[in-house]
Amino acid sequence: MTKAGGRPRVDDSWLYDTETVRIGVLLFGARPCTDCGLPLPACSDYFSPSKNGDGFAHLKSACKRCTAARYRGANRQRKQRGRDEAKAVRLVHDLCVRTSRMLDLRGLVRP
Ligand SMILES: [Zn+2]
Repeated sequence: MTKAGGRPRVDDSWLYDTETVRIGVLLFGARPCTDCGLPLPACSDYFSPSKNGDGFAHLKSACKRCTAARYRGANRQRKQRGRDEAKAVRLVHDLCVRTSRMLDLRGLVRP
C-alpha cells in the first residue's frame, strides 16, 4: 500500500462490511450519514461524538469516514494554498528584481 504521507490510515473496511452494518443497525438503530447518505449504526464506531451547547454528547451528522475524507481534503487544500502563496511571493520577487534592474539601467533608481 502506498500513501502520500501523514498518519497511517486505520483499516476500517470491516466496519463498513454489509453484514457488520446490518447487525449494528439492529443493535443501535440506523442513522443516515449526511455526507454519503448511508444508513449506518448510530454508535460511536461510525459517528464521532461531539458536544453541543447542552453539554450532552451527540453523534456528529457525518460518519467517521466522511469526516476523515473531508479533513484530508481540507488538508490538501491548505497545502496547495501554501504552495500557491510561495509561488506568488516568488513571482513578485522576480518582478521586483527585474523592475529594479530596469529602473537601474535607466538611471532612475540606484539600489
Ligand atoms: Zn458518510
